[in-house]
Amino acid sequence: MVYNWKEFARSRLYPSICLLCGAEAEPAGLCLPCRLELPYNRHCCRHCALPLPLTDAGRLCGQCQRRPPPFHRAVIPLLYRAPIDYLVTRFKFDGGLHCGHLLASLLADALHSGVEDAPQLLIPVPLHRDRISQRGFNQALELTRPLARQFGLPVDCTTVVRTQATAAQSRLGKRQRQRNLRAAFGLDGPIKARHLALVDDVVTTGATAATLATLLLHGGAERVDLWALARTP
Ligand SMILES: [Zn+2]
Ligand SMILES: [Zn+2]
Repeated sequence: MVYNWKEFARSRLYPSICLLCGAEAEPAGLCLPCRLELPYNRHCCRHCALPLPLTDAGRLCGQCQRRPPPFHRAVIPLLYRAPIDYLVTRFKFDGGLHCGHLLASLLADALHSGVEDAPQLLIPVPLHRDRISQRGFNQALELTRPLARQFGLPVDCTTVVRTQATAAQSRLGKRQRQRNLRAAFGLDGPIKARHLALVDDVVTTGATAATLATLLLHGGAERVDLWALARTP
């Protein structure tokens, strides 16, 4: 038998067993029954992808009717609940990069079927350097890389910088949260394309994406899309 180290490394990195049930699976790491049972974000606001009741699917949510966020459109194919929360936690905190590979492939599937006009550049939501040294990687960048390869798009992970680590935002009021966020990011150089997509793992309130979109639009971008894996219901 010829020893193929590339295949060996790949099989170790991306085992062909289902990451959820242990059954045999395709290389991305999910068997078909588990894939079909995932909590897809099918009924959502067409602008910000907030989950909506079935009867309102494809409409605008109340917030987007009153004051739509500055990004052009959000593609967020999954809901942040079991088993996606489990996969994201393994990816972020246990260094489970094969979980990241699977999650990126789920996002890519949604983009293949749902994006007509592709952006010119991908920007992962930056992580503060302290957090990167704790975790060893930026999860948004790890999701962006495979998307960039699949769609043949460049990645810019230097222009938008996170200058402050934002503390746990959930305990703060809305105003304070917005102020913290605006102070947390900055631009280090000119924007390199007119049409960009921000890439993130989980979107909770959308405030981070809105802050970054505003920053990029003020910096000269004409359109900013949001691509994220999962949205909190
Ligand atoms: Zn399975
Ligand atoms: Zn909305």
